[in-house]
Amino acid sequence: MTTILTILAALGVAGALAYHRANGLAWSIALAAGAAWLTWATGTSLATLTVAWIAVGIFAGLSVVKPLRRALVTRPIFGIYKRILPHISQTEQEALDAGSIWWDADLFTGKPDWKKLLGYPEARLSAEEKAFLDGPVEELCGMLHEWDITHERMDLPPEVWKFIREKGFLGIIIPKSFGGLGFSAFAHSEIVTKISTRSGNAAVTVMVPNSLGPAELLIHYGTEEQKNHYLPRLAKGLEIPCFALTNPEAGSDAGAIPDFGIVCKGMHEGREVVGLRLTWEKRYITLGPVATILGLAFKLFDPDKLLGGKEELGITLALIPTTHKGVNIGRRHIPLNAAFMNGPNSGKDVFIPMSWIIGGEKQVGHGWKMLVECLAAGRSISLPSMSMAAGKLCSRATGAYARVRSQFKTPIGKFEGIEEALARIGGNTYMMDATRRMTLAALDMGEKPSVISAICKYHMTERMRSIVNDAMDIHGGKGIMMGPNNYLGHAYGNVPIAITVEGANILTRSLIIFGQGAIRFHPFVLKEIAAAGANDLAGFDRALWGHMSFTISNAARSLWLGFTGGMGVTVEAAPETRRYLQMMTRFSSAFALLSDVSMFVIGGSLKRREKISGRLGDILSLLYIASATVKRFHDEGRQKDDLPLLTWAMYDSFFKLQVAMDGVLDNFPNRFIAAGLRLLVFPKGLTLNAPYDKVGAKVASILLTPGAARDRLTAGAYVPNDENDVIGRLDFAMLATIKADPIEAKVRKAVKDGLLPQRTLAERRQAAVVQGIITQAEMEHMVYTDRLRKEVIKVDDFEHDLGRKGEPAEETWQQTDSKKKAVVASM
Ligand SMILES: Cc1cc2nc3c(=O)[nH]c(=O)nc-3n(C[C@H](O)[C@H](O)[C@H](O)COP(=O)(O)OP(=O)(O)OC[C@H]3O[C@@H](n4cnc5c(N)ncnc54)[C@H](O)[C@@H]3O)c2cc1C
Repeated sequence: MTTILTILAALGVAGALAYHRANGLAWSIALAAGAAWLTWATGTSLATLTVAWIAVGIFAGLSVVKPLRRALVTRPIFGIYKRILPHISQTEQEALDAGSIWWDADLFTGKPDWKKLLGYPEARLSAEEKAFLDGPVEELCGMLHEWDITHERMDLPPEVWKFIREKGFLGIIIPKSFGGLGFSAFAHSEIVTKISTRSGNAAVTVMVPNSLGPAELLIHYGTEEQKNHYLPRLAKGLEIPCFALTNPEAGSDAGAIPDFGIVCKGMHEGREVVGLRLTWEKRYITLGPVATILGLAFKLFDPDKLLGGKEELGITLALIPTTHKGVNIGRRHIPLNAAFMNGPNSGKDVFIPMSWIIGGEKQVGHGWKMLVECLAAGRSISLPSMSMAAGKLCSRATGAYARVRSQFKTPIGKFEGIEEALARIGGNTYMMDATRRMTLAALDMGEKPSVISAICKYHMTERMRSIVNDAMDIHGGKGIMMGPNNYLGHAYGNVPIAITVEGANILTRSLIIFGQGAIRFHPFVLKEIAAAGANDLAGFDRALWGHMSFTISNAARSLWLGFTGGMGVTVEAAPETRRYLQMMTRFSSAFALLSDVSMFVIGGSLKRREKISGRLGDILSLLYIASATVKRFHDEGRQKDDLPLLTWAMYDSFFKLQVAMDGVLDNFPNRFIAAGLRLLVFPKGLTLNAPYDKVGAKVASILLTPGAARDRLTAGAYVPNDENDVIGRLDFAMLATIKADPIEAKVRKAVKDGLLPQRTLAERRQAAVVQGIITQAEMEHMVYTDRLRKEVIKVDDFEHDLGRKGEPAEETWQQTDSKKKAVVASM
């Protein structure tokens, strides 16, 4: 019994030391105290005591006397480490160096500082930005009709193009000193979000020049001459930019583009100058067909060493007027029937002067780094904003539609099956907006969080996909029949575009999020790699022992917090969120442990084990999204009405965290280690539940009920106060339906009581007025509601030939085929 108690006490002390990340000295003192206790308080044999004291001496010597540790233990490990260190390619290295680390790094520590999170400033609009949103953005939205843009013109109307250019929409990010709007990242996102709730095509047109492209590249890397020439012209819309990276052979693997330039002499403006001869083939280029300047990425070679250095100079970026001789541009793709401009372009042996390289000769070969750095900002804004727009639009419109549309004499939103889908729409929208806002605040603080931008791009577009699918299901046929009355079909069609651009999603999840995050944000891995690269034994020693203590600590924390569910962790937060943050501390410790052991066991091939690293990336992402959600709840003043959204979001996140961790453990290559890890990560098994149905019902009710919570959730969407507008009408119909409900109930009761035997609805209502069951005004309201409801559920229909009467009939494929056969037969 005493022995068992002794072992338990020793384990308790060791666990407490590990949990609190005690240093070597503290461990040595504890071990010495243990040995002393054995010596004086127990009858342990002399031999055992001798072994114990020698062990304590060695441990203390190695952990406290650092030169001894370095010489005896670290040096041999250092040698092995340098031999097995995985090769990091130049493009990987540049991606690792680009951008900054932020809250994502805290999530890797196993011990996030929640006070720091809650203390980050909120994203806010300036008065000028707000005025722009309430003025030109509202006005632009009022000019946009997606059906007209997509099906009638396949382009934005000329007056919309003019408005976009003249009001500075193409220069949102260009500093005021160059004539742009110089707005914050948050304002930029709010603008794209609002436009996108009206027209995805207009949003893409505004978004692309303000995202990764010539303006962004010039602001950060352009020469003074380039900035002074192009930025004011871009800001005023006198130039339409596009940026061409993608080659038919190199899509996701953009670092492998075969497009090339050769440094050579050539004629430019009547003089012989040193320049580049470019050959390229690009496709999928947004705004390409209408662009006046083409940003181009290519690999540069200097075989004659005219620049004096290496022959292979690396990826380089240039800005070329599309009117330049040899530039082939103008044809067009049709991206899933969207109308925004997109197309291929090419050139062969096109000579340009050196001064057209973005940033001039100084930036030769730095193209990849420039792109990755700009992507860190742009990827956090463009597609997350468009995804957010889909979330807000679907929340607002689907809630209203599900309230107005009845089946089996019940609003469809009241059916439990629909409630489930509505809850997913509402819960995801709440989390997405939280993530968007927190990330934009980081950008506005000057951060360039590259891994967070990948998290936002992947998870916001995937959640948008889920939201739009749910919204389509709830709308049934109404979402399917295309025409001016369909406000969902275009969003549904555009989902794969968002999934594919700016880093296709599968690749982003499996290769980027954890692949880059694990090395960048781990408190010790990058230090170890850097020390090994610099042959710095002392630096390696510090990093290695810090790393060991970190891993042991996370193992202890994971086990303890797994038992307690994080209870007892000190968290300074509101009572509504404290428990959730404690649970996130538990998951953060378990994540840090899983990451470390995965990197150690799987090593350099982890980046090829995409199913494991994808799941680890999911864990990091879920922690980021869940922490942003808690912050949102705090920032918005802990709104009681939003509690169901917060609760749903937390349960959903924790359940998914559990699934992702379980997936890593189930598929971990070393089954013995996997079993040990499972014990540490899930000591009580899989105990977490998905959001309870009753919570989902409350979230659905927020979408189905006009009020502050619904308004907060959908703030920033374009909702015209106009019952003749297809979106505006939904709110009118919803309010009218809710007001009509008790009136209808009175009529129904009277019918049931046999007071209204009339045959038709109109007759029954009239009789109800005559009998004083309802008032005349109430009857008129029912008629008004009926009219709105009919408008809301209406879908479009067209002439049999879709109005193409009189146009010359096109040859059918059968006719073409028979003509071809006739020609062949006559030969
Ligand atoms: C509408 C639209 C607009 C665009 N606009 C522009 C633009 O303005 N400028 C520009 O330069 N480009 C643009 N693009 C190109 C876009 O960036 C590419 O389509 C994208 O990079 C993917 O390349 P890909 O289509 O060739 O797919 P591929 O690279 O062939 O990828 C196919 C699939 O394989 C997956 N995959 C690839 N490698 C891996 C891996 N290692 N691990 C796991 N999965 C992997 C991808 O995730 C994807 O699911 C646009 C594309 C579209 C559709």
